[in-house]
This record gives sequence, C-alpha cells and structure tokens, in this order.
Amino acid sequence: MKPINLLVGGLTLFTAQGCKAPKQVVEQSEHPNIIYVFPDQYRNQAMGFWSQDGFRDKVNFEGDPVHTPNLDAFARESMVLTSAQSNCPLSSPHRGMLLTGMYPNRSGVPLNCNSTRPISSLREDAECIGDVFSKAGYDCAYFGKLHADFPTPNDPEHPGQYVESKRPVWDAYTPKERRHGFNYWYSYGTFDEHKNPHYWDTDGKRHDPKEWSPLHESGKVVSYLKNEGNVRDTKKPFFIMVGMNPPHSPYRSLDDCEEQDFDLYKNQPLDSLLIRPNVDLKMKKESARYYFASVTGVDRAFGQILETLKEMGLDKNTVVIFASDHGETMCSQRTDDPKNSPYSESMNIPFLVRFPDKIQPRVDDLLLSAPDIMPTVLGLCGLGDSIPAEVQGRNFAPLFFDEKAEIVRPTGALYIQNIDGEKDENGLVKTYFPSSRGIKTADYTLALYIDRKTKQLKKSLLFNDAKDPYQLNNLPLEENKEIVAQLYREMGAMLKEINDPWYTEKILSDKIPY
Ligand code: CA
Repeated sequence: MKPINLLVGGLTLFTAQGCKAPKQVVEQSEHPNIIYVFPDQYRNQAMGFWSQDGFRDKVNFEGDPVHTPNLDAFARESMVLTSAQSNCPLSSPHRGMLLTGMYPNRSGVPLNCNSTRPISSLREDAECIGDVFSKAGYDCAYFGKLHADFPTPNDPEHPGQYVESKRPVWDAYTPKERRHGFNYWYSYGTFDEHKNPHYWDTDGKRHDPKEWSPLHESGKVVSYLKNEGNVRDTKKPFFIMVGMNPPHSPYRSLDDCEEQDFDLYKNQPLDSLLIRPNVDLKMKKESARYYFASVTGVDRAFGQILETLKEMGLDKNTVVIFASDHGETMCSQRTDDPKNSPYSESMNIPFLVRFPDKIQPRVDDLLLSAPDIMPTVLGLCGLGDSIPAEVQGRNFAPLFFDEKAEIVRPTGALYIQNIDGEKDENGLVKTYFPSSRGIKTADYTLALYIDRKTKQLKKSLLFNDAKDPYQLNNLPLEENKEIVAQLYREMGAMLKEINDPWYTEKILSDKIPY
C-alpha cells in the first residue's frame, strides 16, 4: 500500500527576495478527494439531460420529464454512462456489492437485511472500500442509509435492545467496529419516514432532525466539507459516501417530499409524466408525482454539495460520482415490485463521474456492474494497486481517463435475484435460494426463473433491448435459439467466474454450459 505523499502541505512560500507577502498554497495530495452520492430508487431514465441535445441521441429511450437542473449541468462536465447496472437490484445486496467489490454470494449480503435473516450481513472480515481508503490515508465519512448489516440488539441508548420495536427489525445501528474504515459517521440502517429521519453519529448519539432526509444529509456534508466542529483532518484527502433514501416509497403525500418540488408536477396530467409505453395507468399512478418530486429534491440536495465544493475551491481536485442503489419501475411492466427485476427501469442506474481536467466529458455505453464500482473508484483515485485480491469486480478507471485505453470491455452484466431459503425452528433464514439469474448485454436482457422444488425452469424473460427498448415483447426462448445459446454461454462463463451457486449446483446445466 502506497502512503499518500503530501506534495505541498500548507506551506508558506516566499519569493527569492524573501520579503514579499507570503503566498498561501492550497494543500494538495497526489490522491484526489472523492464524493460518491447514491440515492435509493433513482432510475437512470429520471434525469432531465437525457431529453437534451448531446444526450438524446445516445440512448434509445425517452427520458422521464423531470426537472433536474443540477444533474443536467453536472452531466455536461462528466463522463456519463448509459448502461450501468445494479446486478441484484435490491438495497442490501447492491450495497454489499458496492462496498466490497464482490457479488452477493461472496459479499455476505445475498438478501435484503432484516432481523429474520442472520445469513445476510456485510462480512466483517472483508476489506471494504472505506478500509482501503482509510489505509491509504484518507479521512472517510459516511452519511445516510447503510442497510447492509443484520440488525442486532445494540441500540446505543438502550443497550441490549433493537433500535425499533416493530418486528422484523429492519433498521440498525452500526457500531464502530463494523464501520469499515469510516472514521466519521452519520448514518442509520433503513427507515422510510422521509421527513422524520434519524441518524447515529460517530459517537453513537442519535439525532432526529425533522427535515427531509436528502436535504438534511447534504447540509451535513456541507458542514463536514467546511470542517465545522473540526470533524475532519484537512491535511488528508476525504472520501465521502452519501446514501440518500428518497426517492423511495412511500410516495403518497407531502410527508414524503418537499412541497416546492411537488408543485412542479402537481398540475401535470399523469399521462404526460408516465410517458413510457410499458406503463399501466391503472396502477398507483398518483405516486408518480411524488416520485418525480423526490427526484427533483435529490437534484437540489446534490446541487448544494456541488456548490460548496466550488465555493471552497475543492471542485478541481475532487472526483464526484452520482449513482444510485437501483431503479424504480413506477407503473411500468405491470409489476408491484419497484425493483428486484431485470427490467431496465429497475436495473439501469445513473453513473456520472466528474473529475475536472482528468476525465473528458462524454457519454459512454460501458456495461458497468455494481462490483466494478469499488475497484474503479479506487483506480480513479490512483489506488489501483491497493484493490484487495478478493475483489471480483474490475477496475475500469483507465477507460474513464482515456476512451481508447487498452482494456477489454465487458459484453454482459449478470442479473441476480435471491429469495429466502430454509428456515430454522425460530423462523430465522438459514440459507438463500438463487431464484433467478440472467444477463444484460448491449442488445438483450435475459432472465431465467427456477422452481424452488425442482430447480427447473419455470419462467423466462427475453427482450431485444436494441429493437424493443421498453421491453414490451417477451420473446419465446425456443424461437430464438441462436441468440439464447450465445447468452447462455456468456452467462455460464460469468457465473463460473464468480463461483455463483448456479455454477456450483450446476443449475439448468442442460441449457447453460458451465
Ligand atoms: Ca434500495
């Protein structure tokens, strides 16, 4: 591990004459600062710039009619991915992949974390992204939703008790020993009262701010950047993660979003908001206004962080990434499940990276998978040599710095869905069942669902995304033998590479060549 060399550490330089006014030099390290912002159910389609010149012709879908002025401007300064994927598009499994660079079968987090699932919890022994940055000399700060730990009775204000009374317990307090390198903490597990959030700070003290959570969190990030209360070591570069919960259900009243954002959508006819042709307007379509209002509020919160970086002169030496946990189907595809499916509204996430003068603004169709994020982020900060050996994702940083970098681009991204497996006598989940696997390529999406008892194929989804971007026609496998065989081959090789249970148990091996 290469320690950080401070090139110019707050030195006061004098001219040769030694009598002119001293010139204060801003501290700079060879490693940049980094901020990773990831709201929860924020789909890639919900960014205004996709409907604007320079972007519209790069995708084959129509962007949602949303108001996101900060992201629109940010996109013009960033490398913007069209095809980043949340491979297991569900909170805890995605967060496990993000933090460890490993797939859900290895990260420790195959299922959404709650108190009935002791088998799903971020591995304490895994070297996570914060561990690597911390060892490399960074000041590491985590804000907002974590939702990667098995909740245990460890409420710091009521030792030996859970942090909420409802069962099963979803929310969790993360003690210091499980924070994986983050020395500044302002976080919680998962909690969906968006204007009544709570957080535990570095010392375990609880805060209940009664403020819409994304704006509260951006305010805390601003305060951290300004080092109010002497919370960070300004000699060190910083690594900040901000897990905003909205947009996230419920989407039903002004308790869930800010009125000024809702006002932008409240008089819009719903069929002018829900424009995707795969929408069923008979579903809970009123949610759309609250969803898009949440999107706009998140844009505003993100804008506050960008503004502070600029004011402080930190924007040049700070990598800023905007991504999400996974998407939101929002009345598309006639599913009540906002996530967890292979549909593009669920799997395709925003991924925008700004690094002034180092990364040229452009749009790229890199099929980035969630486990690639950690090694790529480390690579962007000059820490490619510090990627832990156990990491399964790949470092695509060279491609961000140079479009023509000699790096093999992935041809597919895995789709993964797990459900509860066997339970013990107390109802606690002991195993997980790998209910579906699939692959997203540049042109196709394939997902195979198996029967719990027989492990035989019970349902398939196959879409020609190039010709059918809204995934309206589920193609029969038997009528598309050639392309299906090719997708099986790619998928089989990837499942084998990550040692997925479908490979180890040779599931559907009559179809998939492992
Ligand atoms: Ca989530």
